[in-house]
Amino acid sequence: MPKAKSGVPKEQAGGQGPGRRKKRVARLERTLEKVAAAQDKRTAQLERLQARAAELAARLAALRAPEAAASDGLASGAVGEGTPAQPSTEPVRRAYCMHDKRMVAIHDPELVVLRNGRRAVAGTCGDCGTHVVAIVGGPAIAMDGQGAPVEAS
Ligand SMILES: [Zn+2]
Repeated sequence: MPKAKSGVPKEQAGGQGPGRRKKRVARLERTLEKVAAAQDKRTAQLERLQARAAELAARLAALRAPEAAASDGLASGAVGEGTPAQPSTEPVRRAYCMHDKRMVAIHDPELVVLRNGRRAVAGTCGDCGTHVVAIVGGPAIAMDGQGAPVEAS
């Protein structure tokens, strides 16, 4: 950036004011676009990571406490042998809290659609307030009368 020489009239005084402003606006617009694009990218990354974390957490929770997972309705194959595990259309009420390292009730649950098209229930841990996400399977999912599905943008 070249420094403005002293003695040069200020831009408002000369006739080059509007032109300069246009350039400045264009430059800021380009910068803003770059920042917005970077933000989009990071948001997508974050959502992918959250989805992955939720998947892994659910798997981990199921391995650690299969009976708890079963009682949560995550594994419902106990009815009969050979019954295929179907994606649950039940509202997901519990998620793995990374902070508490256990399954917790989802506070303020919201049905969201992640960028990868997966549906998930996002909310906060009822105990510590950490953001939690639980992946849900299957098609359209009712939210137990708590509100319409929300698109994650
Ligand atoms: Zn927690």
